[in-house]
Amino acid sequence: MSRKYVYLFREGKASMRDLLGGKGANLAEMTNIGLPVPPGFTITTEACNEYYENGQKFPEGLWAQIEPSLAEVERATGKIFGDRLNPLLVSVRSGAKFSMPGMMDTILNLGLNDETVQGLVEATQNERFAFDCYRRFIQMFGDVVLEVEHHHFEVILEQAKAKQGVKYDSELSPASLQWMVAEYKKLIQRTTGRPFPLDPKVQLEEAIRAVFRSWNNDRAIVYRKINNIPDNIGTAVNVQSMVFGNMGNDSGTGVAFTRNPSTGEKALYGEYLMNAQGEDVVAGIRTPQPIASLAAENKAIYDQFVQISTNLEAHYRDMQDIEFTIERGKLYILQTRNGKRTAAAAIRVAVELCHEGLITKEEAIGRIEPGQLDQLLHRRMDTSAKLDVLATGLPASPGAASGKIVLDADEAEKLGNAGEKVILVRTETTPDDIHGILAAQGILTSRGGMTSHAAVVARHMGKPAVCGCEALKIDYANHTVTIDDVVYPEGTVFSIDGATGRVIKGAVPMIDPELSSEFKELLVWADEIRVLKVQANADTPHDAQNARDFGAQGIGLCRTEHMFMDPARIPIVQEMILAQSLAERETALAKLLPMQEGDFYGILKVMHGLPVVIRLLDPPLHEFLPHVEELVVEITKLKLTGENPHELAEKEALLRKVRALSELNPMLGHRGCRLAVTFPEIYAMQARAIFQASARLVKEGYEIHPEVMIPLIIDTKELQMLRKLTEDTAEAVMEEQNVRFAYKVGTMIEVPRAALLADEIGKVADFFSFGTNDLTQTTFGFSRDDAEGKFLPAYLEKDILENNPFAVLDREGVGKLMKMGVQLGREANPGIELGICGEHGGEPSSIEFCHLIGLDYVSCSPFRVPIARLAAAQAAISNKGQ
Ligand code: PEP
Ligand code: MG
Repeated sequence: MSRKYVYLFREGKASMRDLLGGKGANLAEMTNIGLPVPPGFTITTEACNEYYENGQKFPEGLWAQIEPSLAEVERATGKIFGDRLNPLLVSVRSGAKFSMPGMMDTILNLGLNDETVQGLVEATQNERFAFDCYRRFIQMFGDVVLEVEHHHFEVILEQAKAKQGVKYDSELSPASLQWMVAEYKKLIQRTTGRPFPLDPKVQLEEAIRAVFRSWNNDRAIVYRKINNIPDNIGTAVNVQSMVFGNMGNDSGTGVAFTRNPSTGEKALYGEYLMNAQGEDVVAGIRTPQPIASLAAENKAIYDQFVQISTNLEAHYRDMQDIEFTIERGKLYILQTRNGKRTAAAAIRVAVELCHEGLITKEEAIGRIEPGQLDQLLHRRMDTSAKLDVLATGLPASPGAASGKIVLDADEAEKLGNAGEKVILVRTETTPDDIHGILAAQGILTSRGGMTSHAAVVARHMGKPAVCGCEALKIDYANHTVTIDDVVYPEGTVFSIDGATGRVIKGAVPMIDPELSSEFKELLVWADEIRVLKVQANADTPHDAQNARDFGAQGIGLCRTEHMFMDPARIPIVQEMILAQSLAERETALAKLLPMQEGDFYGILKVMHGLPVVIRLLDPPLHEFLPHVEELVVEITKLKLTGENPHELAEKEALLRKVRALSELNPMLGHRGCRLAVTFPEIYAMQARAIFQASARLVKEGYEIHPEVMIPLIIDTKELQMLRKLTEDTAEAVMEEQNVRFAYKVGTMIEVPRAALLADEIGKVADFFSFGTNDLTQTTFGFSRDDAEGKFLPAYLEKDILENNPFAVLDREGVGKLMKMGVQLGREANPGIELGICGEHGGEPSSIEFCHLIGLDYVSCSPFRVPIARLAAAQAAISNKGQ
């Protein structure tokens, strides 16, 4: 006896994917949970394999098994294959164990011929429809099974339309369609040398053979190779009876979600059309009815559908997207799958499914794609609005904003402070533009990548940004921007969508971010599960408050240089930098001290009870000075007028100093703790500001946890020296103020040498914070902006690197150094606290890595805190027991 090659749907189940393919197993599963699936059967993958072993012949006994299965389908449907009055029509589809999109097109309406088409005309009372099905069937069969080139059919279709004088396929009359049927048949005769097979059994046999053949067509072979699918597993063939929703007023078709895919609300959501086929719903010729009105139209069917959707959700334990057809008062389910949904719906559905007992908290957390949450954490465009999109750049920082375009940071600040909404537009931004960025609603640049200055700062501040929008030509001299030859003067209102990179003309309505009650609940569950703590990078009390509101457990990085950029302070900062003597510098620092103290007071107060890691000054000093080019222009002007020799002398002195301070590679130059090795008084002032603020707060009764962080350490001696400076300052302040408070001193690990020497450095650090922005730059030897703008895309395209290492942590290289830092650091100092504060601290896959290597916390921008909380929980769940 030959083996079993053919399984009726009711004979299979979900676990039989190897034998029945994914689609076949699914159809079997749906049938067996009691869904009214149009009956059919599946021919096994083994049959396909034997077909090849036999030298492309049907395995012995296959046809003998198909015939009774077909008879079973006839019985179940009450229709007969090849019958003129009541024809059974079937679809034939391939279906391997793994989905292989596009391997073979589905053949629909198999069984149609010159006689059975009349049965379809009578059943549907729609001659046009029946002949349209017929001509499509011949075309598909000719193309897929008989391998007649597709374009020959297209030519005939065009001729038919020309003859009848119409533009669209849907306008073709029954007569034109009949003419096409005749022409298609002639075409097949002409190109294959034999007639189109009218016998439905021959059609079926040939179609099955074509599915077997398609396993080894070029598309399939390439697809398998790319996706590592073995060549020897074969494909199954699914033969399923067709159902029609256009057989009268007791027939119809529709699509419904078991819950609202936009909001997640638990209510059937969808639409249907009576006496129509699926295509009619899509074509929009008639307006479909909301699913709820099916209750009035046909209560029994509606109730059955409601029951089915409940069962389906319970079975698949997720929101379903269901396609159905009603044929002469009988409901059929054609397909069900997990429904696509917005981030808001994903959260609500997951949380409610958990409440309903269908999934666990862990599963609910696992159902959310953390990256998708960005949508919910920023103001965003109302996508139902009509948009005039001018150009598209990189989606650098999520959120959306509208405002007048302004090409200059000072102007942006002026207008911003006057209450105007502005978008700062620059080719690129630099730290000099900070005040403009702060005052703007959003940032738009024509150059720079996802981690350019503008992008990093904007993400950090939670402001939307579109970067690298190359279509944008900026003319600073004439105060205009040009896109596609259209000139827009400064002051024109633009909108930017940082989630998609779109630049839009005019204002667009916005939707405010909100953490729904379900989102908050989900995050509480995540907090119960995660091991990593989540802190935030914040430099102002306002940002700190945001971070706290989003659930941050402290500040992991407070960058103090942003405070130096305040326009009111820049002249004093410049005075400090340009000082000719220690005394002069100390005078300038004394002016900065109360300001810094105020900054730290505000942040530590907001974060009372939680740790605040404050990093001392990091960037090279020349970033705070005017640009050489600008000074040269001013000096030239002064020379020409000759009016103000005093100012000229001052500017010339300034230029000399700026030149002296400028560096070839500032990123690798005189920055970070190197500044304090040469000018210890700068860090001494900052430390004093931190401790004076701490003393005040302690006296006021606040519980504070300041942590002083020294950037860019390369050696233990550096840290020892700067630690001592910090401790001496703390002691002095405590003496002066007559209070005691605890504090920590630690360092960033941002260069390979620090990671390599972590066993030594760890002895003098209370904590390490991995500065993976710099650690990535220094490990790769890439300058971030240059890499992203110039050659990194080629590395990604050529698969040398899998991801942009500035966005997704490079586990192999940078990660190895981190692992080493963790291990050596803990050996040297078992109580050492370990965290990350580079951009990677908010990126889900990097967060997983941080979990795996045993960091204590991640720190990211306030708006990413909820994402990090969720991602940290996901990391804990998927690496349980590791
Ligand atoms: C880092 O290098 O990862 C870091 C946080 O510091 P910055 O980005 O300010 O250089
Ligand atoms: Mg750094």
